[in-house]
Amino acid sequence: MDLAEYVRCGTLAHGHACPPLVLGVRAGAVAMARLGVGRAVERELIAFVELGSDHYAQGFGDGVQFVTGCTFGKDLIFRFPHGKAGVRLVDHVRGRAVRVHPLPATIARLEETGWFRACAKSGRFAGDSRALAAQASDAFLTAPEEALFAVSPVFPLGLECPRPSFDTVTCADCGESVLAPYAHPVEGLRLCTLCEERRQARAG
Ligand SMILES: [Zn+2]
Ligand SMILES: [Zn+2]
Repeated sequence: MDLAEYVRCGTLAHGHACPPLVLGVRAGAVAMARLGVGRAVERELIAFVELGSDHYAQGFGDGVQFVTGCTFGKDLIFRFPHGKAGVRLVDHVRGRAVRVHPLPATIARLEETGWFRACAKSGRFAGDSRALAAQASDAFLTAPEEALFAVSPVFPLGLECPRPSFDTVTCADCGESVLAPYAHPVEGLRLCTLCEERRQARAG
């Protein structure tokens, strides 16, 4: 697995070069290796990242998405807002998981970088911090994994995964296509959620 390629693609999607994105790519790769799994081609994996929405290290979540294939679009990545740049990766097929999080020394090293200082001062992640991001990112891409992360033992964890639906119906009110499990039967018609709510509001 060429991690630099995932960093390049991830940076394109994330919008700016970002050392936490590199840490996310590395953490996701460590978790997959420890579970002995490849990327989620379908829905084989689920990732839980521990960042809240105000964390400066949001790139960590995008790094995890790109390397594991646990994307927002596949509904395979969720947040436990614990204020940590950590990830739990679940192997659906075997019902087990692993948690990977940066060592305190890794976070300290990140926060000593010129990139971090520039971002913390300006509150922004692009602009002047771009060259500084590239410098810091290279260091995290090449550091040995045991110098960066703590890894839990693999532990059992089974999660329900919904079966995909392939059945589309047409809403009788707005005429839009809606997946059948989301259509509501109302007076012999099938309505999308918004149209059902509109009817209820008119009736109420
Ligand atoms: Zn970022
Ligand atoms: Zn409708």
